[in-house]
Amino acid sequence: ATPTSIMVGTGKAAETGILFKGGEHLERTHELNTIILDKTGTITKGKPEVTNFIGDEATLQLLASAEKGSEHPLAEAIVTYATEQNMDFAEVDDFNAIPGHGIEATITGKNILVGNRKLMQDHHIEVGDAEQELVQYEMEGKTAMLIAVDGEFKGIIAVADTIKDTAPQAIQELKDQGLEVIMLTGDNERTARAIAKQVGITEVIAEVLPEEKADKVKEIQLKGKKVGMVGDGVNDAPALAIADIGIAIGTGTEVAIEAADVTILGGELLLIPKAIKISRATIKNIR
Ligand code: ADP
Ligand code: MG
Repeated sequence: ATPTSIMVGTGKAAETGILFKGGEHLERTHELNTIILDKTGTITKGKPEVTNFIGDEATLQLLASAEKGSEHPLAEAIVTYATEQNMDFAEVDDFNAIPGHGIEATITGKNILVGNRKLMQDHHIEVGDAEQELVQYEMEGKTAMLIAVDGEFKGIIAVADTIKDTAPQAIQELKDQGLEVIMLTGDNERTARAIAKQVGITEVIAEVLPEEKADKVKEIQLKGKKVGMVGDGVNDAPALAIADIGIAIGTGTEVAIEAADVTILGGELLLIPKAIKISRATIKNIR
């Protein structure tokens, strides 16, 4: 490999918004045969909005007050929704994030739980016929969360995030380049599949706990694959580090950018096939 051609390649990449941390990463990018993409904030815009709320005013107040303590994009959507309705937020006495499952809080002496089915199961909360609504929302690609107050099921809140405009094209280009494309997410299987379908992905690994994302990447590598992992969140950092090439979304968290080998500016997914193309061309010129 000539240092000059690598320098030219990294320079060319940088001009288009692909920031390699070093020439060796550009060199290795041409070996990739699998791209794994996180869902929220990577394939989607990461700006979810509340689309449905079933429950009473008091539940919404507890729910929104509790979510103020969370930094999750889902929480942000809920807080924004309540603010738009001129909600009076209540003081939170105790707050606990349960990674991959939801949150638990104590507010004015009441215990509130917000999260997925698993969270409700773990607390032995009977959700009645909510399952029907949940499935409906999930088929629409929405993330639906269950709400319980003092051990009693109280409502559902659903949130939708839209895919990035160029995501379908970027994924098509990766496939045309011969790469296998996989979605990896902590969200439920049905929601994940609905979003995957919108962007042309057929391989989905869902309901993965934050600390398990890196293990999933490792499993695929053990099958002999060279994996490029694309992510934006704190949760994605270990997976980005373990991947053959970690690709951070420029609009993502600092932790993800630090863990990755390359950052794509503005989170533009078309820059991923572009990076592959530049790397392949660079290697061709070297040989
Ligand atoms: P993702 O990969 O989509 O960021 P996470 O692992 O962060 O997923 O979360 C998985 C699931 O846990 C969410 O789909 C949601 O059901 C639940 N969850 C996580 N954080 C919260 C929160 N702040 N409030 C309610 N539910 C949450
Ligand atoms: Mg994400």
